[in-house]
Amino acid sequence: MGRALVTGAAGFIGSHLCRRLLDEGEEVLGLDCFTDYYDPGLKRRNLAGILQHPGFRLLEQDLLSSDLAGIVESVDAVFHQAAQAGVRQSWGHSFHDYARHNVEATQGLLEACRGHEGRLRRFVYASSSSVYGDAPRFPTGEDDAKLPISPYGVTKLAGELLVRLYAVQYGLPAVSLRYFTVYGPRQRPDMGFHRFFRALYEGREIPIYGDGEQTRDFTFVSDAVQANILALRTPTEPGLAFNIGGGARVPLRQVLDLMGRIADCPVRVVHLDPAPGDVRHTGADTMRAKGLLGFRAEVGIEEGLGRMNLWMADFLAGRPE
Ligand code: NAD
Repeated sequence: MGRALVTGAAGFIGSHLCRRLLDEGEEVLGLDCFTDYYDPGLKRRNLAGILQHPGFRLLEQDLLSSDLAGIVESVDAVFHQAAQAGVRQSWGHSFHDYARHNVEATQGLLEACRGHEGRLRRFVYASSSSVYGDAPRFPTGEDDAKLPISPYGVTKLAGELLVRLYAVQYGLPAVSLRYFTVYGPRQRPDMGFHRFFRALYEGREIPIYGDGEQTRDFTFVSDAVQANILALRTPTEPGLAFNIGGGARVPLRQVLDLMGRIADCPVRVVHLDPAPGDVRHTGADTMRAKGLLGFRAEVGIEEGLGRMNLWMADFLAGRPE
């Protein structure tokens, strides 16, 4: 066991990853600057269950102004989850934030790892299915064309290319995990399932972009976390990228029907114009992750939505986790 740095520790995926690493007996140094992209109070809530854990320490710092060299010296694994998330908001002036948090911060962290290649067990980068844009085929393989259709996707791909560069040039034992739409307890409030459940519970119409026929490969958060644990423990060629998906492409329309049944609420949908940057379909070919990491998604959409629904009910009622 060792000591892992988790950037973006207070976020949706980062907070689950911290908990799992602690459960695995790792010490965790969690770094987060609590950006106001969504309510920082929710991020504090995400960490509430682990703040007192003897193996956890929080660094409330921005990667862009931290002593990254000193931080990296004190750990032996890095999970880089921090980013400015969100596809639709990445157009216009806010691109500046995406470039800084997703590209500059990633480069700074990689640079701080230079010289520690022999000592670090792993550098795991949280990449995204958005690097593919509107993919030419489904399921999409890691070597298929990467032509993002959102500024967010461009920055996530740039981060991934930087990770590959440091792996190839300096031998950093780095991998990228391309998550496909992650959902579950603590999902960001700007993400679809969170907004849909909230609208259902509040008896409102659910606004969806487009006709509802778009499909997604939805990944339950514990499966995304498991991929990180497998990546830590399984040596592979440095610089590789892996698709991490839930194992099936599900139409949004079907998800909404399921949600209505699970939450026992009538579903009323209002259709909005498709949003620029939103891809029509995603579908992960996970054969590489299966073959080289032993990854297999465990939680199907019905079970995952059931678990998220339980969390959502507590969350909206203000009950602690
Ligand atoms: P999130 O916004 O909940 O978490 C990201 C965290 O990073 C936030 O708490 C934020 O405060 C922190 N952060 C941002 N910039 C920082 C900086 N410069 N210094 C320190 N902290 C900083 O997002 P999430 O949904 O948990 O996503 C985690 C990672 O997974 C991101 O890299 C995202 O691009 C990637 N990803 C997520 C999904 C998904 O479906 N949620 C899909 C694909 C990829």
